[in-house]
Amino acid sequence: MPMSDDFDSRLRAVLPHVAERFGTPFYLYDAAGIDATATAFTAAFAGLDCREYFAVKALPNPAILRRLAAHGFGFDCSSLPEIELARPFSRDLFFTSNNTTTAELLAALSAGAFVTIDDEAALDKLIAADAVPATLGFRVNPGRLAPDFDAKLFGHPHTAKFGIPVERLSAVCARAARHGVRSAGLHMMIAANFRTAEPTLFALDLLAEQAQRLGVEVTLLNVGGGMGIPYRPGEEPLDLTALAAAIRARVAAWPTGFRPRICFENGRYMTGPHGVLVTRVINRMSKYREVVGVDTTVNALLRSVVYPGVHHQVTAPFAGDAPAETVDVVGSLCTDIDRLAAQRDLPPVGEGDLLVVHDTGAHAHAMASVYNGRLRPQELLLHADGSVELIRRAETVDDYFATLDFEPRILRMAATSTR
Ligand SMILES: *Cc1c(COP(=O)(O)O)cnc(C)c1O
Repeated sequence: MPMSDDFDSRLRAVLPHVAERFGTPFYLYDAAGIDATATAFTAAFAGLDCREYFAVKALPNPAILRRLAAHGFGFDCSSLPEIELARPFSRDLFFTSNNTTTAELLAALSAGAFVTIDDEAALDKLIAADAVPATLGFRVNPGRLAPDFDAKLFGHPHTAKFGIPVERLSAVCARAARHGVRSAGLHMMIAANFRTAEPTLFALDLLAEQAQRLGVEVTLLNVGGGMGIPYRPGEEPLDLTALAAAIRARVAAWPTGFRPRICFENGRYMTGPHGVLVTRVINRMSKYREVVGVDTTVNALLRSVVYPGVHHQVTAPFAGDAPAETVDVVGSLCTDIDRLAAQRDLPPVGEGDLLVVHDTGAHAHAMASVYNGRLRPQELLLHADGSVELIRRAETVDDYFATLDFEPRILRMAATSTR
C-alpha cells in the first residue's frame, strides 16, 4: 500500500533537505510509525500472555532494535551475528535457526537464548555435545495437514525444508526428555506475508493440540512471524483486533491449567510499512519503452526480484500532477532484471527528481548485495521531532575491498606422484 498519510507528510517535510545533506540513495525509517505499530500490537493482545520477538533478520540495525526493545519486545535470531546484534538490547532472545551446527547451538545456549531446534539432527548434536538444555523449543512441520496458505512465497509445508514432521514430534520430544529436557516450546511458521488470521490460528490450534498430548510440559507456543502488510494500493491490512479476538476465544476454550505463553516472531509487520528507499533520477531514456534510470539498483532491494509477484509502490513526491506516463524504473546493473518498477504510471520525472520506493522497512536493506560493485546504501532514522539520524553509513570502496585485504594464506599440496 502507499505509505501512510502521516509518514508521507513527515517525509515530505524533510525529504529535500535530507537528500541534500546525506545524498542519495538511502533507506529512511519512520520512528513514529514503528512506535505506533508496536504500541497497537501490544494493545491488541493486552490481557493475554503474549510476547513479540522481533525477527532481527527483517531490519538488523541497533537503532531499530533499541526502539523495539523499549516496547518490551524480545528478539528472534537465526544466526550468531544476529544474537550479538540483539543481545545488548534484550536478554530475551529466541534462536530459531535451521540446518544448524553444533558450534552455533552451543554458542546460542551460552548466550542465554531460548533455542528452537528445526530437526532431530540438532537434538543429535546437543546429545553428542552433552549440552541438552532443560528447556528446548521444537519447530513443527504440519505436512499435509496444512492448507495451502501461501505456496507462492513459502512453498507448501510438505515440500518445505523446515521443521520436525508432526508425526515424529512426540518421539523426538520423548527422546529429548530422556536426555534432560523438562519443559518445551512448540513453534510453527508455514506462511509469509499473509493478511488473514488463518495461518496464525492454524498454527495455534495445531500446536495447542500437540502440546496437550506430549509427555513433556509445554510452556510456550510460538506461532512464528509472517503477518503481512499491504504492498499494493487497495490491499486490505491484516485485522489485528479480529485476530486477537479469535486467539482470546481459543485460549478461553483451553482446559484449565493449560496456559502456555503465545509468542510471535514478526519482522515485516513491525517495520515493513515504515521504511522507504529514496533514490534520484540520473537518466531519462527513450528506448522501446520509456526508461527512468535511478541511482540505486535492485541490489539494494533484492526481494523485489527474488520472490515472485513482489510489488513495491514507487512515487515521485515532488513531480507535480501532469498526466502520468508509463515507465520502467531501472538501476545500473548489467542484468535486465534490474527494474524497481516495470510499466508503472508515474508523473513525468526528469534528471534530479527524487523517487520513493514504499514499504521497504523489512527484508530490504538486510538483503542487499554488492553485485556489480554497486555498494549498499546508508540507512537513516526519521525521529518524531523531524530530526534525521544516520544509523548506518553507506558502504565505501574500502568496504568492498575489506575481505580481499589480508595476509595471503596458501595451502600447498604435497607433490603428487603419478609414476
Ligand atoms: C523470517 C522469519 C520470521 C519473520 O518473518 P516476517 O515475514 O518478517 O514476519 C520469523 N520467524 C522465522 C523463523 C523466520 O524465518
